[in-house]
Amino acid sequence: MTEIWFDDGLLSVYEDMYPLMEKYGLVGIIGVVTSCVGKTFRWQKKWELPCMNIDQIKHLMNEGWKIASHTVTHRDLTKISKSEAEWEIIESKLWIITNLGVEPIALIPPWNRITPELKKYALNYYPRVVNKKRIYFHTVNLPHPSRFNIKVFEERIRRLAK
Ligand SMILES: [Zn+2]
Repeated sequence: MTEIWFDDGLLSVYEDMYPLMEKYGLVGIIGVVTSCVGKTFRWQKKWELPCMNIDQIKHLMNEGWKIASHTVTHRDLTKISKSEAEWEIIESKLWIITNLGVEPIALIPPWNRITPELKKYALNYYPRVVNKKRIYFHTVNLPHPSRFNIKVFEERIRRLAK
């Protein structure tokens, strides 16, 4: 099945995208930023976006959705120290195992940025590191140029479901 990724674990995934995905018989992959679960995700230094809580994520998991790590704090792994980056990689996996009861299927480095060395390191802990082109929905629901248009998204999803 086509892999459809939803990064950051935003509440908009649960409230807006999940009903659409369900309508077309699709499941997605949530890139969880573990420190944001049940809290907010700070986006572009301006907005605090609500995130899904553990129960909402588990609901999607029960419907067949998969879980990936999108690190603990969503920092650029290439701009922090090696030990901090390694902590982001390992700690987020431990959080997912402890709180969601599953092994993350992949690591999604924030902004797809990761060094070859860190990628090699992460592959000791994750089956995959996903930092290349993928089907991704940006679900930031704000008065902003990149805000999502639910009609456009539904058309994309409808085509993916074929
Ligand atoms: Zn992200």
